Amino acid sequence: MNTLEELREKALSCTACGLAETRANVVFGVGNPNAKVMFIGEGPGEQEDLKGEPFVGRAGVLLDKMLLAAGFSRRTNVYIANMVKCRPPNNRDPNPDEVSACIGYLRHQTRLINPRYIVCLGRVAAQHIIDPGFKVTKQHGQFIQKAGVWLMGTYHPAALLRNPNAKPDAFDDLCKLRDRLREET
Ligand code: URA
Repeated sequence: MNTLEELREKALSCTACGLAETRANVVFGVGNPNAKVMFIGEGPGEQEDLKGEPFVGRAGVLLDKMLLAAGFSRRTNVYIANMVKCRPPNNRDPNPDEVSACIGYLRHQTRLINPRYIVCLGRVAAQHIIDPGFKVTKQHGQFIQKAGVWLMGTYHPAALLRNPNAKPDAFDDLCKLRDRLREET
């Protein structure tokens, strides 16, 4: 698989885990395939499942607003994907079997996009990608480099809807990212 389009085609007919039985759509990813920044969420919710695009529900509206205010947008300079590409029923966390069945797609997708920064949105993505003991409240906004890619974890936008007090911290994390990118160019 040499292109994102080929990988997407393969994902669209995937039946590697039970989520294939209950999904309406596979939610592969959205954004600029040449983006320097890739955001990784947990898994599609109801709206995402219906539309086939990540972060299009209430949490997505908040994410888009915060991205825009920090100089980012899914239509221009970032790519957005999830740990799992099909909706876990009732918005439960994806279980370990589902993550293992799906993680190959995310790895391949990440290799093709080749981002300089990966931002993990929330605990599930941060614990898989950065560190199994990752604590969002303590470690959000910290950049660590792994295999030439800078990783950072921040609050999941759905968590910010539940706890708006954390919004300034999450926005600060995005601004730090923007400032780092500016310094590099
Ligand atoms: N939450 C996620 O983690 N991903 C989505 O795409 C939507 C909500």
